[in-house]
Amino acid sequence: MPEQSPLTSALDVAEGDPFGPHNLPYGVFSTADAPERRRVGVRIGNHVLDAGAAALALGSPYAQLLAQPSLNPLLAAGRTAWRDVRRALTAWVTSPAHREDIEPLLHPLGAVTLHLPYEVADYVDFYASEHHATNVGRIFRPDGDALTPNWKHLPIGYHGRSGTVVVSGTDVVRPSGQRKTPADAAPVFGPSVKLDIEAEVGFVVGTPSELGKPVGLAEFRDHVFGLSLLNDWSARDLQAWEYVPLGPFLGKSFATSVSAWVTPLEALEEARVALPARDVPVLPYLDDSDEEEAGGLDLRISFSINGVVVSEPPFSTMYWSAAQMLAHMTVNGASLRTGDLYGSGTVSGAETGQRGSLLELTWNGTEPIELPTGKRTFLEDGDEVTLTAWAPGPDGTKVGLGEVSGRIVGRG
Ligand code: MN
Repeated sequence: MPEQSPLTSALDVAEGDPFGPHNLPYGVFSTADAPERRRVGVRIGNHVLDAGAAALALGSPYAQLLAQPSLNPLLAAGRTAWRDVRRALTAWVTSPAHREDIEPLLHPLGAVTLHLPYEVADYVDFYASEHHATNVGRIFRPDGDALTPNWKHLPIGYHGRSGTVVVSGTDVVRPSGQRKTPADAAPVFGPSVKLDIEAEVGFVVGTPSELGKPVGLAEFRDHVFGLSLLNDWSARDLQAWEYVPLGPFLGKSFATSVSAWVTPLEALEEARVALPARDVPVLPYLDDSDEEEAGGLDLRISFSINGVVVSEPPFSTMYWSAAQMLAHMTVNGASLRTGDLYGSGTVSGAETGQRGSLLELTWNGTEPIELPTGKRTFLEDGDEVTLTAWAPGPDGTKVGLGEVSGRIVGRG
């Protein structure tokens, strides 16, 4: 018998693959032969492991959490279960003893359909990048202070529409609505002419909390399971006319795209970094100077339009941490539910090439960017926006985040 080449097994992921066994993000997939049967999958290289089938084949106690059509049971199971399941999965995809059982349960990534991996409960979006908030302030309030007086005292956020969170790959229909510029005598109705993106990171809540009981900074990892890239599509013209005095509404609620893969926080231990220095003291419930959970995450995001990278927003520059956002979101006693999703707000760094929205990149349309597909101020029908990201992993590896992608379609 000829000797097997070292790369004949899908489990032999190439060295340096950002989706190697150090990553193992979770998703939900179906196959063409059984399109109705949604199953929890774990990504390894360019394959998806049917995690529930693997658990059943190996007689694992986690079959009940994994042989499911959504991630919700696993999310609800809590931190100890998350750790144990991840440990088991790591053994299944790396140990030669399991190879014969596991290999037949792998599906090529290109042969499966990926679905929204969890039922989104509540959806909140923050505004936690100082560079983004400063840019937006300069654009919309050129005569005032760039940051509002509250900005460095609390992570600003709003409640969005969870029912319109869609999985990567879903087309986004250009929204219509009212718009009125200061020069217009009256509002007009029609398709948005300033359709934009916001490159963000979305945090997924697993363990619920009790109504009336705030979740402190130190409890962050007991409640938040993982994260994924998030695109908060934004119609700037609708937003500008409607947002005073109650904040974002129809300019945001038509669609929010998330990656099909949720990266567990446990895969991002090496990506933890210090937050940028603060120049304004915060109230005790937001003061993380002594907390183990202090700090940010070194996620390097890439934002492209029609395959061309237009910016690279660094998540490490965010002013507020995900733990501070969670603490603030619950400090009034509002409870968490499994599947709650909260976005970080647009990630923008200090440099021009690190801005996470077209609003900033084109300075509200006054400085168009050049693409091979033509000049852009805001998005045109047919444009496809893709966010990708990676983070430092163990031993010099990279942890890839699942991409989030969407194409703009006209109403037809
Ligand atoms: Mn946003």
